[in-house]
Amino acid sequence: SSYYKILEENRQLYNQVQDLKGSIRVYCRVRPFLQGQSDGVSTVDHIGENGNIMIVHPHKQGRDARKVFSFNKVFGTNATQQQIYADTQSLIRSVLDGFNVCIFAYGQTGSGKTYTMSGPDLTAEDSWGVNYRALQDLFQISKSRVDLIEYDIGVQMIEIYNEQLNGLNVPDACLVQVNCTQDVLDLMRVGLKNRAVGATALNERSSRSHSILTIHVQGKELISGSILRGCLHLVDLAGSERVDKSEAIGERLKEAQHINKSLSALGDVISALAQKSAHIPYRNSKLTQVLQDSLGGHAKTLMFVHINPESNAIGETISTLKFAERVASIELGAARA
Ligand code: ADP
Repeated sequence: SSYYKILEENRQLYNQVQDLKGSIRVYCRVRPFLQGQSDGVSTVDHIGENGNIMIVHPHKQGRDARKVFSFNKVFGTNATQQQIYADTQSLIRSVLDGFNVCIFAYGQTGSGKTYTMSGPDLTAEDSWGVNYRALQDLFQISKSRVDLIEYDIGVQMIEIYNEQLNGLNVPDACLVQVNCTQDVLDLMRVGLKNRAVGATALNERSSRSHSILTIHVQGKELISGSILRGCLHLVDLAGSERVDKSEAIGERLKEAQHINKSLSALGDVISALAQKSAHIPYRNSKLTQVLQDSLGGHAKTLMFVHINPESNAIGETISTLKFAERVASIELGAARA
């Protein structure tokens, strides 16, 4: 009976995944005000049903002051880590059925990307972000199918900094086999220790690099002997803020240019996929090269765009939402067709 239960579960999952085929989901998350850090004036005027968010410009008047953006879903300041994950779970589970999935966190530095993906405190499970919840789910489901499918799960942690790819857990960024979430937490600790920079420098640098946690799944069906492969990329992108070219010099300017280039390459790939272009420009950045197999085709993509609601962030907030709307246009396009 457990066999039929799994078949039925799979059928439901399959239907959900079919619904998503060829589309990109975009979720917007607004982080709360941080203590002692703002004038308390929010640029988020209103979060509506159906994924609408209304932004109010602090320095504009009349009709120009308000603008509405639409996404698949908008999470307000009191959304919990559990709620965020609940809407991500079906996508993650499909990896065990052989789908490739990419989940991105996009937004300016300090908008909550790492909070969503890793969470603020690894020692408190309640506060875990998408990464650890995903791993836990993958291990748990794979173990529940042990009579039917034998799974191997491996992880890889890489960082892309100035268009250079670095392995974090191991020097050559190779795959490490893991059996439980704790194995992964241990690996992360090793990874952090391996980076010969202090905590502050690490924070600074991590906002200027893309970090990618990749989970490779291989399953062998015990009855038929057939093999399925799935892959999940969890991507904490570099901060999307534009750097004032007149002010940045040297290393900082170089970093800014690399980040700019790779984030616009990502936007270009996604919109080329949306338009079903013959040529998808994967080769324009390291980021899109690394993720090539998991963007487009039968792969599923989800982007979390993060908003800092403070009034002095309005410029970045608008440009983040514009980028996100461009990414989301895949679905809108399909809906109009
Ligand atoms: P980013 O990764 O985009 O640079 P962080 O995830 O480091 O941003 O978030 C910046 C600060 O805001 C951190 O102190 C973080 O704990 C806090 N923060 C972000 N999102 C939330 C949230 N949803 N709820 C509470 N605090 C948050």
